[in-house]
This record gives sequence, C-alpha cells and structure tokens, in this order.
Amino acid sequence: MIPRKPKRLNDSLLPEVGLTDDDHALIAAANAALERHYRPFWHTVAAAIRSRDGRIWTGLHIGTTVGRLAVCAEAVAFGRALLDGDGTIQTAVAVRHPKPDEENRELAVVSPCGACREMILDHAPDATVIVKDTNVLIKLPIRTLLPLPYRR
Ligand SMILES: [Zn+2]
Repeated sequence: MIPRKPKRLNDSLLPEVGLTDDDHALIAAANAALERHYRPFWHTVAAAIRSRDGRIWTGLHIGTTVGRLAVCAEAVAFGRALLDGDGTIQTAVAVRHPKPDEENRELAVVSPCGACREMILDHAPDATVIVKDTNVLIKLPIRTLLPLPYRR
C-alpha cells in the first residue's frame, strides 16, 4: 500500500485567487527576461512586478561569488518600479531556470524567499504574489505568505 501524502494543516486557510490574463502576461514577462538573460549561476531567476498603473517591471537575480551579496530578482524589479515608475507593487512573480542536472527544462514559478516577502510586505502590504502550490498556480496576498513579519 502506498502511503498517502499528508495534507498540510493550513491548506484550508489559504485564500486561493484565480489568475487573470494580466497575471499570465506577468509570468510571460518574467519568463522572457530569464530566457533572454539567463547565465548559469549569475542570473538564474527573473521576477516581474505589475505596478498599480498596469506597467510591468522585470528584474534579474544577480549572483555573486560572495553568496550573501547576491541580490534577488524581485528587488531589482522593484528598484526599476521605484526609479522609473510609480513605485507600487500590485502583483509580483518570480520564475527560475532549471538547474543543469534537472530533467524538466521548463522555467518554473518560484515562491519569493523570506527576505523578498519582507521587502514586498514593507513596501506594498496589499500586494499579491503568484506562487506554485504543488502543480497549481495561485495568487495570494503577500500577508498570507508572511503572517508574523519582522518588526523593529
Ligand atoms: Zn528573494
């Protein structure tokens, strides 16, 4: 008998929101940025942010030899939104390139790291983020991805 995968305890607490055509366009923008600029180790993740004015800002992960100096793609995209746009985040998404030894060669949506969750919540507490839950893409309020944020 194959053991059943345990159900996560908080599944029923996740407010699921369906993706719109604009959300799929946001994912496509992140994919396009990564397809164009992917470099193993140096640029392996891309992000796209849609601001409240509807404009899309893309960013690339910047890998560094000293790992802690690496910069996430979401931060680069948000910097562009701040400098050249209205500085808001309505929805954000990140996609990653497969690792060299992975069989599946598709770009895939990835959840924001903890630091990016903090950054998005700090600057856009009402933002939503597109994430992949098993094999389903869903859009969640950033607040649900960081229920107890750091506060000083
Ligand atoms: Zn991050």
